[in-house]
Amino acid sequence: MMTTDMINWPEEKVQKLMGHYREILSLLGEDPEREGLLKTPERVAKAMLTLTRGYEMDPKAVLNAAKFQEEYSQMVIVKDIDFFSLCEHHMLPFYGKAHVAYIPNGYITGLSKIARVVDIFSHRLQVQERMTLQIKECIQETLNPLGVMVVVEAKHMCMQMRGVEKQNSITTTSDFTGAFNQAKTREEFMNLIRNNH
Ligand SMILES: [Zn+2]
Repeated sequence: MMTTDMINWPEEKVQKLMGHYREILSLLGEDPEREGLLKTPERVAKAMLTLTRGYEMDPKAVLNAAKFQEEYSQMVIVKDIDFFSLCEHHMLPFYGKAHVAYIPNGYITGLSKIARVVDIFSHRLQVQERMTLQIKECIQETLNPLGVMVVVEAKHMCMQMRGVEKQNSITTTSDFTGAFNQAKTREEFMNLIRNNH
């Protein structure tokens, strides 16, 4: 397993972020010199770099590297992909599950690669709607399937912790192309997501 000690941190960035987080702690009324907080700026800096590592990664390259010719033309479904992201408005977590379906048009990809694409887009500052669209577009533009559909279900800490709206509400977004314009095809996917939960 990869531990944070093994990562090659961009030292200059870490140092700059640490300075800012020390300042933030002071502005929040804390004493950044007290023992419990001494290493906090460094930890937060590294945590934020990890949570936004998706900026440095190319999701299309991931799919292109694992694109296989295959005549299979039934719906391929990857459901319950856990993800964690940060909302770009509050930089607080939103997290949940993504479900992806596509109907191949001569090309398929490894199932784990679909999860990888979700992982990359979620490790950026996001809004759920855009993340849903980006996952869809990435798959459509890379595999060129007959259709792709993405459903994302998430809880937003910025709503839950700040007491805005219903505390336990789940936000669902979806987007699709091609064959999924037909209600029947969308229904088939939605039924398969809902079953065996
Ligand atoms: Zn927010």
